[in-house]
Amino acid sequence: MSIKLAQEILKNRFGYDSFRMNQQAAIECVLSKKDCVVLMPTGGGKSLCYQIPAMLLDGLTVVISPLIALMKDQVDALKNNGIEAEFLNSSQTSREQAEVFQRVKSGQTKLLYVAPERLLQSGDLFIDFLKNINVSLFAIDEAHCISSWGHDFRPEYIQLGKLKRYFPEIPVIALTATADKLVRKDIFERLNIANAELFISSFNRPNIHYRIEPKRNSYAQLLEYLERRREESGIIYCLSRSSTMSLAADLRDEGYSVLPYHAGLDKATRDKNQELFLKDEVKIVVATIAFGMGIDKSNVRFVVHCDLPKNVESYYQETGRAGRDGLESEALLFFSWADVNKLKGFAEVEGNQRQTEIMLRKLNQMGEFGDLKSCRRRFLLKYFDEDLSENCGNCDNCLKDFETIDGTIIAQKALSAVYRTGQRMGLGYLVDFLRGSQSQKIWEQHKSLKTYGIGADISKNEWFEYFRDLMAQGFLKQSDGQFPVLQLTEKSVDVLKGNVSVELIKATIKEEKKSSLVSDVSHEYFKDLFADLKTVRTEFARGENVPPYVIFSDATLVEMATFLPLDLNEMSRISGIGELKLQKYGADFLAAIKRYCEENDLESRINLKAPRREKKQRTKRNEKGQNTYDVSLEMFLSGMSVGEIARERGVTNSTVENHLARFIQSGEIALTDLVHEDKIEPIREAIVKFQDIGALSSIKEYLGEDYTYGEIRAVLADFTGRANAATR
Ligand code: ADP
Ligand code: ZN
Repeated sequence: MSIKLAQEILKNRFGYDSFRMNQQAAIECVLSKKDCVVLMPTGGGKSLCYQIPAMLLDGLTVVISPLIALMKDQVDALKNNGIEAEFLNSSQTSREQAEVFQRVKSGQTKLLYVAPERLLQSGDLFIDFLKNINVSLFAIDEAHCISSWGHDFRPEYIQLGKLKRYFPEIPVIALTATADKLVRKDIFERLNIANAELFISSFNRPNIHYRIEPKRNSYAQLLEYLERRREESGIIYCLSRSSTMSLAADLRDEGYSVLPYHAGLDKATRDKNQELFLKDEVKIVVATIAFGMGIDKSNVRFVVHCDLPKNVESYYQETGRAGRDGLESEALLFFSWADVNKLKGFAEVEGNQRQTEIMLRKLNQMGEFGDLKSCRRRFLLKYFDEDLSENCGNCDNCLKDFETIDGTIIAQKALSAVYRTGQRMGLGYLVDFLRGSQSQKIWEQHKSLKTYGIGADISKNEWFEYFRDLMAQGFLKQSDGQFPVLQLTEKSVDVLKGNVSVELIKATIKEEKKSSLVSDVSHEYFKDLFADLKTVRTEFARGENVPPYVIFSDATLVEMATFLPLDLNEMSRISGIGELKLQKYGADFLAAIKRYCEENDLESRINLKAPRREKKQRTKRNEKGQNTYDVSLEMFLSGMSVGEIARERGVTNSTVENHLARFIQSGEIALTDLVHEDKIEPIREAIVKFQDIGALSSIKEYLGEDYTYGEIRAVLADFTGRANAATR
């Protein structure tokens, strides 16, 4: 069966122009009736790997998924794209189930979602049912649940090994977002698919910005953080049930739309809270880790960890719930070593020394991550056995410079503050004291000390960093107990006497990097139109009783609010709009866009959307022996867009654009492949106008938000390429 048909379905039913990552390879494998295992990060697009084959194969595709709560939404989403799908689970009455069986038997259903428990039914009832119908494919979602090495072992999954025994001819596709080598091995063995092909995609999530703040007064820090995100959807994780309850209550008092979620709430409340969140009726959920498995909400803009996750796997999975739609999102963690110590108690696995050691090692790695001074993303990917060729440019550390400074005077100020206040004050107090805080918290008798206020020139954050550095170097120590205080050590005396000098690490935000990042990744769209479009979406979602993303994802609405399509034809070029959705919803969204354009005197910008290039057969890539520029070129020539290359290689768009600009200069890429022809002339004019200044930023500012740095660079490269040719 040809991949061309698969591509047509991708466009007509799902509204997407090109496959992502290994989707195409996995689909080809399934269509040739071979087993495969697909490892792709959350949000990568695993579902299409079996949904598209399901449409192309003549029989039924059985999808096994542990996420009962999600089945209905998944099925609704498929139906909304005109695909016949059903689910069977314990939430249905026996009558409803009988009806599903009937429809499946009649042959009209293409996909059937079931929970693994089904296969446990006595006397293999369900297996017998399947034997009597035409099954074409088994898809096993969340396949890591089969392994006791994983973090989410489900004994029912073991039964899935039966499938290959009863149906040796029917291909199996197993999918997961988390599987280290041991888990992977279990998937192959326990599913009896020893010869399956393995497709591993990069686990990088370039649109998630990783950020870690020292944990101090985390409530105040959190409020400051949320203040700038009032309209956005997010998840806040806490360690204990009681803290989720109290934090949710506090945030509600601050006027946030927020609900708690933890395993101690009764099921009805949990389901209700989850549903309100999925439907965008509530913006924030404050939860324990009980919340999340299978939270398929695409527009989660931030995930905050108020407490430390117990290992990097959990951290990565929880933060991975942000930004499934590919738009900019953020992961924020409040970190302290005290949390590491607190969790040590939980790492103990009774009667199992080996397991305990594994847990403790994982916990320490989490601590190491919190304390890291280099690129966070590189560390994370390395943890999962993946190498990133350069720093990411989109984590807090990449946006900071660290320099070593002579910190002797700073150290003397800090140590004498500890000494003068009697070695019985905590870190926060000492920082306030050094900065000369007017707060009532500062003891009256301390205000007359000479050291009071001598550190006012240094910011609070910097002081916290310096203190931590001094502790790490052994110039200070922290007492144990609930209210730890700072005390001098043997090494302190030499510092106070001026006998030794002290080196400290100072962090500064790189201004230049910051600005280039913002212009590269921020989506410039009409925000008030976006809000209007959301309203239209909400009406449909309520009417059909489905979560809004089932109608259109945020990413699709953002595209509409960027390119302003003004007729159905233009609308069909927006990513995420298949034929059925175009018919069903197109007119209403168009009306909103038209109204907005009339009121604001705007025209369609659909021509600004990157030109679609013909897909050429993708060549096999081998990074070895090629330089990084050539790799990007090859990927580009194989038909991938700049965004796709950036995603797959784990670099920013601008890095890829820089790579490609080189080949425009050498003539290997045509300028029109990268820049729409309507835009070339205006950019050329601007370049000429500003040639004396020569600054890219002036050109960009002049051209405005419709033009990206990448496009300007490309035209510039074309210019210089020609100039060189002319002088040669
Ligand atoms: P996963 O199951 O891997 O977490 P999903 O299958 O839910 O991810 O896909 C995540 C999002 O990406 C969905 O909104 C989906 O429609 C979208 N998506 C999947 N494949 C593509 C593609 N080739 N192009 C654009 N969007 C895609
Ligand atoms: Zn980084």
